[in-house]
Amino acid sequence: MTDSHNRNIDPDEIAKFEELASRWWDRNSEFKPLHDINPLRVGYIDRIAPLAGKRVLDVGCGGGILSESMAQRGAEVSGIDMGEAPLKVAKLHGLESGIMINYRQVTVEQLADEAPESFDVITCLEMLEHVPDPSSIVSACARLTRPGGKLFFSTLNKNPKSYLFAILGAEHLLKLVPKGTHDFNKFIRPSELGRWIREAGLRLNDVTGMTYNPLTKVYKLDPRDVDVNYIMAASKPE
Ligand code: SAH
Repeated sequence: MTDSHNRNIDPDEIAKFEELASRWWDRNSEFKPLHDINPLRVGYIDRIAPLAGKRVLDVGCGGGILSESMAQRGAEVSGIDMGEAPLKVAKLHGLESGIMINYRQVTVEQLADEAPESFDVITCLEMLEHVPDPSSIVSACARLTRPGGKLFFSTLNKNPKSYLFAILGAEHLLKLVPKGTHDFNKFIRPSELGRWIREAGLRLNDVTGMTYNPLTKVYKLDPRDVDVNYIMAASKPE
């Protein structure tokens, strides 16, 4: 791997996920929020880019929650992550579930050099807010997508409400995830992510919020509320 590819990794961020990795598939662990939102996001992806038979790349796949659910819908899934422990967990869990997924420790930038335009669909969820240069991830994802392919990015918005929900609420009050999971400075406004998407030569097709109601403990997709967590759908022109 070349040095330029290594630079877009924050070792502290990778270490955080390495440490928690053994609990990735425990629905009541720090990963509960990812398990809880997973049916919503895979449903959203499958509606916009029907997954059966598609070659899909899951960037920052972690322990494989999203990767497995896309494979279950008939996609041929590859998952990449720079964390060793999460990938180990993903591989083991895939074996237990009897699901075939090609997991690999490689940066998305390097894979884009190796295999441009080789995927129909790319997902990069809850990962951009953990890297030094998220725009480089978006542009590598664009290079990896075949013309006409679809891309999905999700992250946390940057405003007082997202600070309240994602940091104070989730980390301190409700203790849904460990303190220090997220760094507010790395949150991304939809306008910024939209700009990186366009600068990468992609079309922005849709934006939807993923909301959490702490009283009912229910997660929902809500296109009118992108204040905290949101997902964007993009496409690469033919
Ligand atoms: N996308 C998964 C996991 C999100 S957790 C899901 O939504 O279910 C964030 C993941 O990003 C972790 O597994 C972490 O190891 C990974 N990550 C952080 N920086 C990365 C980088 N530069 N390249 C690849 N993966 C990275």
